[in-house]
Parts: sequence; C-alpha cells; structure tokens
Amino acid sequence: MTFSTLKEAEAVAGKLGRPSKMPGYAYGLPARHCPVGSLLVKIPGSVCSGCYALKGRYVFNNVQRAQEYRFNSLKHPQWVDAMVFMIKKRKCDYFRWHDSGDIQGLWHLENIVEVARRCPETKFWIPTRETHVVKQYLSTHGAFPPNLVVRVSGAMIDGQAPTYFANTSTVTTGGNPTCPAYKQGGVCGTCRACWDPAVRNVSYPKH
Ligand code: SF4
Repeated sequence: MTFSTLKEAEAVAGKLGRPSKMPGYAYGLPARHCPVGSLLVKIPGSVCSGCYALKGRYVFNNVQRAQEYRFNSLKHPQWVDAMVFMIKKRKCDYFRWHDSGDIQGLWHLENIVEVARRCPETKFWIPTRETHVVKQYLSTHGAFPPNLVVRVSGAMIDGQAPTYFANTSTVTTGGNPTCPAYKQGGVCGTCRACWDPAVRNVSYPKH
C-alpha cells in the first residue's frame, strides 16, 4: 500500500509530535520502555533519575496514548514507509527522534537510518543511551548518513561524555551548559546545535 493521506500513514505509525520549543516535528515513545533508561532511572545521580519523560505533560493520558500507539507500531512492515510519508508531507527541515523513549534494538536503529536516507532534505537528531546498539550499528554498517546525528548520552549527571562516538551529550548541574534554551525561555530559537554533526558534545542543564 502506498499512502496518499497523512491519516493513512498515521494509522500505521502514529502521529508526529509538534513541540513548541523545537524548530520542527518530534517523535516520542513511552519512557518506561527505554531498555537502558529503565535501569538507569533507579540509579541516583544518573541522567535518567528524575526522568522528565516520566512526569509533567508526558504522563497526560492523550500523550501516553499517542506514545503507546507509536510503540506498538514499530514492527509494522510499513513503519518506514509511513514515517517517510509523514516527514515529507510535513516538509520537516528538522526532526527530533525520541523526545521521550529510546531505541529498542539494532532493527529499530536500522529503520530510523532508512527513514533518514529516504528523507535527505530533513536533518535528524536522535539522543540515545543505547550505546551497545549504536556500536553494533557502526560495526555492522559503518557511519550514519550525514543528515542523521546520533548523540550518545553520558550516563551520569556531571559525568564525562562517552569517548567512542562522534556526537554525544551530557547533563551538568554547574558551569555553563552549551544548550542555550534555559536562557531563552526554554526554546531553541535559532540554535540548531543538536542537529549539527560538527558540534561534538552538547551539555544540557539538569532539569
Ligand atoms: S542545544 Fe540548541 S538545538 Fe539543542 S536543545 Fe538546546 S537550544 Fe535546542
């Protein structure tokens, strides 16, 4: 089946999100299904302790329903086609994967890469704590497409950035976080650092 309407694609893969702080569309999964995150959340001082995606607006019923719908669609044989259709139809210049949730396995990351390959006019950013899946991908397939920035997150607040990866992120309680959103009303504004492969590490203030 080829898609002719957003409604048809959304029936397969769920709707895209439109967060007000970001320059484009986003996509979230339930944080309780994060493979590494659901372990880290129990560790005090980890970046997942006090996870923002397990509270606030993310626990509203409509948000949870949308996340569960997306999660249940991940293995649909037309998931890639549906995502590509929606991203192209929405004319997304910038797209953020996983404002909540994380990669579920190598098969999932391979599908995300395929979406990026088929949407070369869109810049993608995906933050992840699934270091082993990213390593598995890189050793199996080599580099990511140039329009997909995979930022591997450091595990501990105020900890070091992972060293193995081209792009990383960290969370800090002091100093000068490089993410400027906290001093501009919580929005990205003109900043696109997270999508920029030349920016090796982005540090965020602790929520
Ligand atoms: S570093 Fe820039 S692009 Fe990334 S979240 Fe902060 S403001 Fe947005």
